[in-house]
Amino acid sequence: MLKTAHAQVAKLLKFIDASPSPYHAGATIEKQLLAHDFKRLSESDTWQLEKNKRYYVVRDQSSVVAFKTGHQPSSETGYKIIGAHTDSPSLKITPNGARDESGYLRLGVEIYGSPILATFSDRDLSLAGRVSYKDAHEPIKTKLVHFKQPLLRLPNLAIHLNRQVNEQGLKFHKQKELPLLLSCTNEQLPEQRFAQLLAQAANLNTTQILAWELTVYDTQKGEFWGAEREFYSDSQLDNLASCHVALKALFDKKNSRPASTLVCGFFDHEEIGSESYKGANGNFLSTVLARISSSFKPTHDDHQRSLARSLMVSVDMAHAYQPNFPSAYDPNHRVIMNKGVVIKVNANHRYSSESISEAMFIHYCQQAKVPYQRYSHCNDIPCGSTIGPMSAANLGIRTVDVGNPLWAMHSIRESAGVLDHYYMIKALQAFFKG
Ligand code: ZN
Repeated sequence: MLKTAHAQVAKLLKFIDASPSPYHAGATIEKQLLAHDFKRLSESDTWQLEKNKRYYVVRDQSSVVAFKTGHQPSSETGYKIIGAHTDSPSLKITPNGARDESGYLRLGVEIYGSPILATFSDRDLSLAGRVSYKDAHEPIKTKLVHFKQPLLRLPNLAIHLNRQVNEQGLKFHKQKELPLLLSCTNEQLPEQRFAQLLAQAANLNTTQILAWELTVYDTQKGEFWGAEREFYSDSQLDNLASCHVALKALFDKKNSRPASTLVCGFFDHEEIGSESYKGANGNFLSTVLARISSSFKPTHDDHQRSLARSLMVSVDMAHAYQPNFPSAYDPNHRVIMNKGVVIKVNANHRYSSESISEAMFIHYCQQAKVPYQRYSHCNDIPCGSTIGPMSAANLGIRTVDVGNPLWAMHSIRESAGVLDHYYMIKALQAFFKG
């Protein structure tokens, strides 16, 4: 089993390599959907859907909803939905970020979400994102841009200049100490120099580029580690690992002609609260579901019946127990790597699971013969959240929050267990099949 699991994780690591920004993640997901005969729909066109066909919709390049239509009416079967997010905490380059500082060219950054900032230091960083530009034929076009080589760095201070670092921790002043080093200065103005680099990477002229969004990412590739290579590490495991398992479930040959319509929603902006026109707290998923329903000519009442019969599995990563820090965890909820998928429970509904949706997910784990664990957060520390509670609230759909054990969530280098990735694929395939 470990061999099969390694093969699945090797594919995940390639998936992450191809997805250094949420826009690239959207493109990687689209490429896989096209390879599995999914047809792209545009939100601005009329949809004429057929039963047992495959479709997807993209909103602003980084959020995607893909679905296989079932052969039974949704009002009788409900929708089966898996949700995950395409973004990860990071640093983003500010619009006028290029600055000279005592012989160095630095790029100013804004913090996106809540990364562990110290983990960005002393790493081979680079940039990826998208540029909007004009060309001879169209006023505004957009393309992905990916500086593949290491380009930037946040050098740490030597211990001789920061003697208390091991006692007080590695801290960066968010405004003054996070700008990233790009080069030594020369006679060119900093903005011009950066504009030229960007234009080169995008294969455009500097005068064509009107606007851009660039995310900082780590160029180090994913890797297996451990005595049996039973762990793996990479950036953005939260939450590209969950996007990957969702796709594996959707592409499973055993559900090629499903009774229920199967839906996978991949959303940007989770790390900043999901409140945007493409985030999970927006109307993207609800409008796609309403349009699927209306394509098959049911009444408004039928659509509401479909939602009432639906189940959403919100997949995001879970905090694995790290034995060096026992006090950070509830002693009865120590989630262990490679011991199974995690059902996340929170009394204050930071996770959307309740006993019925929890039991439904356990049923699918049992069908798939995969182990599961339960996670409840330590009462001394505020609990994070996921797209689960807000999607459940917006759609009125029963939801369960699940995920795989992860160390160092929001570090630029996170770690997880090889077997758990395989287990989650199996559990979600059982959900889509059952
Ligand atoms: Zn997440």
